[in-house]
Amino acid sequence: MRADKLLCAKQGCLEKSGHTDDVQRPSNIGAVLRETTELLAALPQASPYLEARLLLSAATGRTHTEFLARPETELSATDLAHFDRLLRRRLAGEPIAYIRGRQAFWTLDLRVTPATLIPRPETELLVELALARLPAKAPLRVLDAGSGSGAIAAALASERPAWTLLATEHNSEAARLADTNLRTYRLGNAHVIRCDWLQPIARNSLDAIVGNPPYLSATDPHLGQGDLPWEPRPALAAGPDGLDAIRTLCAQATSRLRPTGFIALEHGYDQGPAARAIFEWHGFEDILTHRDLGDRERATTGRLPPPGPHSTLISSKVAASSR
Ligand code: GLN
Repeated sequence: MRADKLLCAKQGCLEKSGHTDDVQRPSNIGAVLRETTELLAALPQASPYLEARLLLSAATGRTHTEFLARPETELSATDLAHFDRLLRRRLAGEPIAYIRGRQAFWTLDLRVTPATLIPRPETELLVELALARLPAKAPLRVLDAGSGSGAIAAALASERPAWTLLATEHNSEAARLADTNLRTYRLGNAHVIRCDWLQPIARNSLDAIVGNPPYLSATDPHLGQGDLPWEPRPALAAGPDGLDAIRTLCAQATSRLRPTGFIALEHGYDQGPAARAIFEWHGFEDILTHRDLGDRERATTGRLPPPGPHSTLISSKVAASSR
């Protein structure tokens, strides 16, 4: 049975859509895209037209430009069968990024597998913050903590050839994938280290730490929604209040960062106050929370105080900023 019929049968819409077994399915690009867009609209949180063309590109190797230029092109039986298999997976809820094995992030098109979180557009905020707040030409050592697919490290390494990026990742499959992504873009200034957070990193050796750690509560209902049930749980959830990884990272960061070292961590939209309190507790200063494009608090930044006997007495400035 075709994937669309499966969906229609499930929803009892076979009659409404006019699909019956003896009806000839469309096999040209334009009609397949139209039909698929309609089918995908039934999925929660799908971008139906975008996903229809990404799936058709993945199945046929053809580009969006070709779809637009020659929508009347008939697809081969092999391409149609391949497309059907991909569509079926999407209709079963599998994230489009895992089906295609790719996800766009920053200016890059990264390989992703179910061993890693799917890089999100919100996380580009961390890249912007690091680019805006750190000197571009200085030979900085910047660490991406819990790098997953290597998204943040790859984006920063591609923008700042003078920096050295260290991407730490606990999961060995994810670490291999991050390495593949860095090699694909020939980012010789970025290196993957398989380890827990900052464990093996030497004292006073880093200028900055950025990271998108897991930050959902282990009981957050979102874990059952959208793409999340397909993503690795340890990349998403961190203890009862979702803040375990942020606490661990801040605790490890203070000894690894040099004086005035910078930290930028992503967190949940409602975790700004808690993140600022954790940063302050660990002695960070210039603490600011930044909003994402959806105007939600999404990342908090801070700096270690300069060296000096009274540095810890300098009071932390805690404020929320909007971009
Ligand atoms: N840093 C990676 C990303 O932003 C992985 C994050 C994670 O697994 N929590 O996609």
